[in-house]
Amino acid sequence: MTAKIIDGKQIAADMRAKLRTDVADLAKKGIVPGLGVILVGDDPASKSYVTAKQKACEEIGIYSEDNRLSASIPQNQLMAHINRLNKDPKIHGILTQLPLPRHFDELEMLMAIDPAKDVDGFHPVNVGKMVTGQKAFLPCTPHGVVQLLIKSGVKIEGANVVIVGRSNIVGKPLANILIQKSPLGNATVTVCHTRTKNLAEHTKRADIVIAAAGHPNTITAGMIKDGAVVIDVGVNRVEDSTKKAGYRLVGDVDFENVKEKASLITPVPGGVGPMTITMLLYNTVESAKHAAGLLK
Ligand code: NAP
Repeated sequence: MTAKIIDGKQIAADMRAKLRTDVADLAKKGIVPGLGVILVGDDPASKSYVTAKQKACEEIGIYSEDNRLSASIPQNQLMAHINRLNKDPKIHGILTQLPLPRHFDELEMLMAIDPAKDVDGFHPVNVGKMVTGQKAFLPCTPHGVVQLLIKSGVKIEGANVVIVGRSNIVGKPLANILIQKSPLGNATVTVCHTRTKNLAEHTKRADIVIAAAGHPNTITAGMIKDGAVVIDVGVNRVEDSTKKAGYRLVGDVDFENVKEKASLITPVPGGVGPMTITMLLYNTVESAKHAAGLLK
């Protein structure tokens, strides 16, 4: 079997087209969704993520405010920016690009964001609501993965899902979304990590394997069953002298071999990545609707 490729770019483009219509409808009511972006320091990868997020906002008509701060500012100045954005009625979502430079207290920063503007879904209030099945901002990458599955026609209910990775931003929230008694969930979920004994024993049983380990070739063809759905969250740089940049991006899955055994598979790039930004846009638009009293 050769797998069908899940086209994350196309699915994301379709979702963004729908969001653009929503934003245009809001504009008729005088509402413009606003995202306040904070970037601390000059890490090139963080800069390019922030630029991509702001460009995506522009494309669908979301106002985005750029706050680029020096890595040398003290924590209290960062907190002052967050407090200002918390109070600004033009801003419906606040995003601080992570990771922060080392000397900042990331948890204190996250706790300072108004949970009603926490469009990354990382504030403990939103995490608690997600775990207990209440309406909350869902973290963008895990929610993007679930939307990819749904829009590709994959039945999540009753599926055996194995997630490789237990980080706070991908593995843990994804497991929580997938076990909820909800249209996004009802799966049976196993979460694996570096202390898991015999990873392949788990992945071979899975109807859906989701790799979020951060290492190339973590999932090989021998580790999945015939016809499994394989979602690759990983983004890794590997040296490639044929590329101008000297590297290329690969996921955590041995794509070429796994695609000969899976029924559906996401590529890297062009799979999960475009969905992450799309779900950030979605959360920002939802937040603006909520602030305007248009949602329950
Ligand atoms: P992370 O914080 O480094 O977590 C990696 C997780 O994978 C850890 O729980 C680790 O286990 C587990 N792990 C690593 N190697 C393993 C192995 N060989 N077998 C089993 N478990 C293993 O990474 P993350 O932030 O979750 O990100 C994961 C990957 O997704 C990265 O490549 C990242 O760049 C990518 N990512 C992509 C997007 C996107 O939009 N496409 C968004 C976020 C992240 P322990 O807990 O035991 O250490």
